[in-house]
This record gives sequence, structure tokens and C-alpha cells, in this order.
Amino acid sequence: MIQLYNSLTRTKEEFVPIGDEVKMYVCGVTVYDDSHLGHALSSIVFDVLHRYLEYRGYRVRQVKNFTDVDDKIINRANALGVPVEELTDKYVESFFESSDGLNVRRAEVHPRATEDMAEIIGLIQRLVDGGSAYSSNGSVYFRVRSDPAYGKLSGQNIDQMLEATRHEMESGKEDSADFAMWKAAKPDEPSWGSPWGVGRPGWHIECSAMAFKHLGEQIDIHGGGMDLIFPHHENEIAQSEAASGAVPFARFWMHNGMLRIADGQEMSKSLGNAFNVKSALEEFSSDAIRLWILQSHYRTNPLLERELIAAAERSMRRIRMVAEIESDTSDGTGEPVEFREFEERFTAAMDDDLNTPQAIAAIFDLVREIFKGRDAGLDVSGAVESIRELTGVLGFTLQNPPDRSGISDDDVEELIQKRKEARDNKRWDDADAVRDQLIEAGISIADADGKTSWWRD
Ligand SMILES: [Zn+2]
Repeated sequence: MIQLYNSLTRTKEEFVPIGDEVKMYVCGVTVYDDSHLGHALSSIVFDVLHRYLEYRGYRVRQVKNFTDVDDKIINRANALGVPVEELTDKYVESFFESSDGLNVRRAEVHPRATEDMAEIIGLIQRLVDGGSAYSSNGSVYFRVRSDPAYGKLSGQNIDQMLEATRHEMESGKEDSADFAMWKAAKPDEPSWGSPWGVGRPGWHIECSAMAFKHLGEQIDIHGGGMDLIFPHHENEIAQSEAASGAVPFARFWMHNGMLRIADGQEMSKSLGNAFNVKSALEEFSSDAIRLWILQSHYRTNPLLERELIAAAERSMRRIRMVAEIESDTSDGTGEPVEFREFEERFTAAMDDDLNTPQAIAAIFDLVREIFKGRDAGLDVSGAVESIRELTGVLGFTLQNPPDRSGISDDDVEELIQKRKEARDNKRWDDADAVRDQLIEAGISIADADGKTSWWRD
């Protein structure tokens, strides 16, 4: 039995899908910049959920959207002097490159808001027709106080929420709590025709419309970061349920935690460029990044620190070594290493609201058994196969990390020879320049007994 924590009920509940396919919607990125490790966290968590549900025999249909019309996008495009579509195309592609690099599988559908405009406008029309929304000066607002259940996800009442977000009373709104679903066009902004005049959709309505279109009006799991609970998810619930009457819109609301940094540091500075996913992948393997993230439970806030990812990289080596020992030991003569109990521990942990830290502990314990078994001449082939399967559920590739230095062993040897010649001829500056070049490439050297040894950091 799989139990998942449901943010809506604030309890762990048995997960049973409504139909024969798990319908899962995850809020995607706003495409105006490259993905950073905060995005990676959410992608990896829901990728693991997707993989685990399949491992447990479910069919899954995941939808993850792109917000490709938004103030941030428009401002960025204007600042760069490029058309909005050129900017969004570029960052949609960048998102996929980062996700592929992290071994995050694609969702079944990655809809873009601008491509589902008919559904967005249709949904707003339904809400206007039903009386829960109204148009005013070319914009359309959701009448928040028409929904007695508003606030059920975040557990607050409307006035507390207004207090927290300092809602400004905009002209045209009936109530400061109301939020825009359609925004009348301003000059130099992308806009679409609608029954209320030209304009563009608000952010919240996009997700409701795209979930309806690609999954249906009631879904099994809705995911996203904890920072989206209010107002985004609260508003999605209000709109979706008011339009369809199907309550709840999503049976399970799942929220991942947010990256955390050590006191006194800034998020982007604590890792420098490596905060950007593509740069991080030049330095670390996807396995290391995934292991670092999955060693924390998804509802906690993992600490963002270079040393923790580097430590995960070292830990991954042990698993990779196991994956490589299969062929030279499975001569079939020894007793097989018992691995079922470790698989059971893995499944029990994952069934318990995706407890990846415990699932990973079970994997490392099995790794230890395999090393012991190999040394004792046992047959480890079944256990190794099990390691491959379980690590696959967590999305590990077990491939060796990228060669960070981009420098081959032969190149290193050649440079060391060059340095020796420079030293022999007392060209100390040349010798130092070669040493600096090696250090830059991540190669450490040590001179002893007239010989130079080297290793990769
Ligand atoms: Zn969303």
C-alpha cells in the first residue's frame, strides 16, 4: 500500500488512483532563464514519484506545463530587445537540456500556455457564465468570496491571506481578494483576442485549463513546490472546482520543500555558477545531484552546499563499482547473495510517502552485502541486478561522472614531461605555468624522489 502525504488533508493517505491510469499534473517553469538547482529539486522529486508509481505497476500520465507568457518574460524580452517567442523557445529548449542532463524523464505532455489559449479562454467563460467571475475594463477577475471553501489548502481564511500578501485594491476589482484570470492588453505586450477584448491570461488559470485539457476535470496528483501553495494552488483549486463542480479537483496535493542555504549565504552565491543546472552538470554527475537531493525527504529543505554534492559523488562510486563486478564473479558456483529483504526495505520506505533517505540506506546496505559476498565467493549476480533496478527507480544512470578537466591522461603525462624539461633547464616561470595549467584542469601533482606523481581531484 502506497501512502502519500496530502497537503490538502494534512495527513498521509493511502494512494488509490481514480481510474486505471494515474493522472498527475506538476507546475512547470516560467521560461525566461536557465533552470537552477531549485527547479532541479522539484523535477527530480516528481520524476522519482513517476518512476516509483510505474515500478509499483501503475500507468502514469504526467503533464508539466511551461508558463510562456508572463510579466517576467515580457520584461526580459524587452530588456534584451528580442521577441517574446524567441526568448521562450530558447528557454524551453534549455529546460529540456537541463532535465535530460539530470536524467529526468519527460512528462507525457509538456503544454505551453500560449498553445492552449482556446481552453484557457473557454474556462474563463465558464466561470463568468456560472457567476464566479466577472469582467471589468477588459479584464476578468475571480470572485474569491463566492467560494466558501477558499483557503482550504493553505488553511487560512481570506482576510489572513490578504494580510500576508498585502493585496492592493486595483481599480476594476469588486474586492481586493479577487484575482485576475484575464488581463486587458497593455501596449507592447503579446495579446490574444477574447470575448472581453484583447489581453492575456493570468498565471493561475493556465494550470487549471491545461490540467482539464490534458488530464480531465479531476486528477489524482497535483504537484509543485511548497512556495506555490498560496496563492497559485489555492486559486487553481477555486477556479477548477467552481467550473467543474468536481471536488476535489486533485485528490492528492503534493509539495516539495525548498533548497536551503547555510546562514548568512546567498542562494546563488553559495554554489556560484554551479547553481545553474547546466554548470552543475559540468562539475558533477546527474547521479551525484540526484543522490544529494534524494538523501533528504522531499518535504524537507535540502541544504545547498558544494561539499554535500561532492560527498554524494564519492558515495556513488561504491554503487558504480558494484554494478561493474557482476561479470567477473557470477560463475554460478557459489550460493546466491540474499537481496529480497533489501528490496522489501526499499519498497516499504518508498511506500511510506516516498521516504528516499531510507530507500537509499537499503541500497547502500545491499551494496555492502554484495562486496562481502563477492569476497566470500558467493554468487552476486542477482543482487547486482537488484541494485540496477532499484537505482533505476531513483533515476540513477550509474555512468561515470563527466571528465571535469577535459584533459586526457596522455595530455597530463605530456604536460608533466614539459614541466620536467623546464625545471631541468631552470626555466622556473615556464615550469610554474605548466603546474598552474594542471591545477586549473583539476590535476594535483606531487614531487618526490625526483619523480612527479599526479591524480585527479
Ligand atoms: Zn501551476
